Amino acid sequence: MLRKTVLITGATGGIGSALVKKFAEAGYNIIATYNNGDITHLQNICKKCEVDLQSVKIDFAKVGIAENMLTKVIADQPALQCVICNAGISLGEKMLIDTSLDEINSIINVNLTSVILCNKIAAKHFLGQKSGNIINIASIYGIYGGSCEAVYSASKAGVIGLSKALADELGPYVRVNAIAPGYIQTAMTEGYSEQEQAEIKNRTPLCRLGKPESVADAALFLSSDEASFITGQVLEVSGGAIKF
Ligand code: NAP
Repeated sequence: MLRKTVLITGATGGIGSALVKKFAEAGYNIIATYNNGDITHLQNICKKCEVDLQSVKIDFAKVGIAENMLTKVIADQPALQCVICNAGISLGEKMLIDTSLDEINSIINVNLTSVILCNKIAAKHFLGQKSGNIINIASIYGIYGGSCEAVYSASKAGVIGLSKALADELGPYVRVNAIAPGYIQTAMTEGYSEQEQAEIKNRTPLCRLGKPESVADAALFLSSDEASFITGQVLEVSGGAIKF
């Protein structure tokens, strides 16, 4: 029997690496996209788990090229069962009035337009095989909004809208869900000071910061048969936090 395959974008990052590890341990072959990161640790994880790794360098800021490359990668993948759109960027905290059009375009291209295109390509493939799972990594900022992260919040709200609409459109064959992480310890959030981290913990009902593995656990659950009646949902992995 063919092993299942999962495609994970942004696989080199904190959450992406945890996703690769979790799915490799569950026996999935991995297609990993990266941009400037190092894939050596992904190769080691997949070797240890005895699963295949296909790595593809794709820059999601260049949406047209990214669409063509993803189309080629996803074609001819008979065992592809899950696509996780995880690649994303943030400008850090910045007021909207100080944000340039170039910065707005770069966030929207990577966090939203590329996710829409990746969902489109995955949807076509999964409809053809009458099964499949799409999981989009959003953010609690896409639900509650984050002060000084307005464009990022808008991009993630777009990802949530996309996931809900597509779940309706692609049922009953394809499930589409989003995960909304809260504060997760990765490169994206390493700029927070000790004091800011203490404030975040104070505002989080579970009184701690999140680990990338918790997001990966949620993704593996959403991709599994145990979640076979779940679609169009946003699973918050945030320790209960709604605002930082
Ligand atoms: P991260 O460690 O900074 O990783 C980001 C990933 O996105 C990297 O693999 C990076 O690739 C990839 N990426 C960035 N720009 C790209 C581009 N132009 N083209 C292709 N790939 C690109 O961040 P993370 O914390 O793991 O975040 C993963 C996802 O979770 C993001 O969508 C983020 O918005 C979301 N999220 C994170 C948090 C958090 O607290 N960390 C909270 C809510 C939501 P390379 O490294 O190869 O360049």
